Amino acid sequence: MALTSIRPEKLADAVARHIQELILEGALPPGERLLPERELALKLDVSRPSLRDALEQLVDRGMLMTDANGACYVSDKIGKSIRDPLMHLFDDARGRFDCMEFRAVVEASAAGLAAERASEADRDEITRCFEKMQAAHDAGDVEAIAATDGDFHFAVYGAAHNVMLLQVMRSLESILRSNVYLNRRNLYEHRRDRDEQLAEHRAIFEAIMARDAARAETASRQHMVSTMQTQREIHEEEQRLEAAIRRLARHELLATPKGKR
Ligand SMILES: [Zn+2]
Repeated sequence: MALTSIRPEKLADAVARHIQELILEGALPPGERLLPERELALKLDVSRPSLRDALEQLVDRGMLMTDANGACYVSDKIGKSIRDPLMHLFDDARGRFDCMEFRAVVEASAAGLAAERASEADRDEITRCFEKMQAAHDAGDVEAIAATDGDFHFAVYGAAHNVMLLQVMRSLESILRSNVYLNRRNLYEHRRDRDEQLAEHRAIFEAIMARDAARAETASRQHMVSTMQTQREIHEEEQRLEAAIRRLARHELLATPKGKR
């Protein structure tokens, strides 16, 4: 009797831990719907009460959400508490620099770890992302290039197999993506060579495929250095433009500009 009363609870804990790991590792992405309880219980080979208990634990922890019909979803609010207050910090140039600088720190390590740890599935995913990026480049589709750029980097974070790294980057995803996008858009309106950008990603891609961690780190670092350099140039250009506009506005505000009349 004692055994049966303890066992379901322990099993539920184990099931909860297992599902939580899948969520934190990114195998179950935010917003994804889980199988119906009956099927899930069969798949995991556990009783429905144990499964229900496990799911309830995860709902309490905010990892899962249920809808009115009782369907279970992976919460899309995981990491929101990190993301939301920070969002506003990234509206200006300073925030964007800091974001890139932080990325530069993480990015190289992530690429190195990915080179060492990527599973076959990870390698397929990184390859798929790189090929899509290449196609976007070929088509000259700036939005697709920005999206695939983000996808590529997230595939690398996933392949690094470090739960902390992936979750921190996930929680910053919208910031990082808007950052990638802003850079991209500016990039094409400015001087930077598209081929150069693709070549930087190719270098990272090939090093990871070759399982060469040192080369992957170097390639990744180079990508971030040149991206930050571009951002600096864009920022300086924007500031010059802004100063010019300010001067113009002040000048035009004068009823009788000096030198005239
Ligand atoms: Zn990139």
